[in-house]
Amino acid sequence: MATAVKLLAAGSSLPPTACLVGSGGQRLGSLPRGMTRMPPTPRSRASRPGVNRDELYHVAEASGLNPSLEGYLNDRKSLLELHKASKVSISEDESTLDSIGSWSGCLLKEQLRSGGLQRTPLFREVEHALEFPFYTTLDRLDHRRNIENFNFTVDQMLKASYLSCYTNDDILALAIRDFSACQDTYQEELRYLDSWVKESRLDQLPFARQKLEYFYLSAAGTIFTPELSDARILWAKNGVLTTVVDDFFDVGGSIEELGNLVTLVEMWDKHHKIEFYSEHVEIVFSAIYTSVNELGEKASLLQDRDVTKHLVEIWLDLLRSMMTEVEWRISKYVPTAKEYITNAALTFALGPIVLPALYFVGPKIPESVVEDLEYNELFRLMSTCGRLLNDVQTYEREYNEGKVNSVSLLVIQSGGSMSIAEARREIQKPIDTCRRDLLRLVLKKEGAVPRPCKELFWKMCKGMLLLLLPGRLV
Ligand SMILES: [Mg+2]
Repeated sequence: MATAVKLLAAGSSLPPTACLVGSGGQRLGSLPRGMTRMPPTPRSRASRPGVNRDELYHVAEASGLNPSLEGYLNDRKSLLELHKASKVSISEDESTLDSIGSWSGCLLKEQLRSGGLQRTPLFREVEHALEFPFYTTLDRLDHRRNIENFNFTVDQMLKASYLSCYTNDDILALAIRDFSACQDTYQEELRYLDSWVKESRLDQLPFARQKLEYFYLSAAGTIFTPELSDARILWAKNGVLTTVVDDFFDVGGSIEELGNLVTLVEMWDKHHKIEFYSEHVEIVFSAIYTSVNELGEKASLLQDRDVTKHLVEIWLDLLRSMMTEVEWRISKYVPTAKEYITNAALTFALGPIVLPALYFVGPKIPESVVEDLEYNELFRLMSTCGRLLNDVQTYEREYNEGKVNSVSLLVIQSGGSMSIAEARREIQKPIDTCRRDLLRLVLKKEGAVPRPCKELFWKMCKGMLLLLLPGRLV
């Protein structure tokens, strides 16, 4: 049997990094028996984040499935770990990883189909890995799945003593206790948020979708430790508020009401100098005003500087980009692809959800970081990825509302030669590019943005890839 393989994880929310090692600490280079080691390629990069392509080069070259590989390929655990590692791609130039991912995936699917794994604890793990690469997950859902899978492994242990090295009752009991204890906190927070929606009268807006549970799931699945309650609450609150505002701009508000809302936010503390155009504007503005001020006060205390102004600017950027969208729609202006995506990345509305949360996860964030290219690039990549995922899903609805999106723009640009289905498939390429570029930036050691903050961008991206892909949870 080939050497057991394990992945070195850089952190709880990040992918396996650096390299694959054997159970004795040796590099994976010696793993597949019968394979000839290939020399390092000239493209070797010593400090490259992610999986080391050069370490895996010989595995990709040996993908012809010749008989000498049989022993290695029958080691299903190794094959599974190799497949998982192949997904840690941080650039489009990853032909070695892509090749490994392709052939290892085929072999694993074949083993599922043939029933070869049916009676093994690996069955669920392989099934899950094939359907959900590491970049399509909410951390807390992963934890629950691991607990359940661990239980399964314990059951199997009774029948197969060779698995004993994979289990530990104490660790399992601790994980279950932690998971269960947190549920009480989550339920209490959800009750508080539910009463906030009612007190703010957001549930009285006839045009607005009510998405509290959806955003709370995203919050608790992402920022799950009990002490980060404020971050979870603001994440869910701003998810609810941005949905209400999105619906106001898309269907619920007149141009006068929308202009009034933008002006009120621009005036902020002097907003009482002008009237509310309607009760709907009053409800929406008051909810934003109150929650931003509360949040700003807490964040400013943590950051030892006044950050409320920044939080207002984040909202203004969103409202102005939404207004641009409305103006395009009214004038029937068809933007270029670049104009569209620059604006649409902002209207996807992750600004008020993710950016304020950065102030709550621990590190101090000076103003220079907020103005740094890296901070803005992290935000752009996450937002573009989300927007494109959403466009693929919501093409019909937006078309009926008279709005263009990246799918219809591709069809228009092709002069009608591209079908909607083809355009949807084409959008997958920039989605993959954004995901890989974002992960590369998050894994980079240097940079102005502290690591816990970078991870938040990545966590949101992972959640969107889970929740917004066709056939996923929601
Ligand atoms: Mg919209």
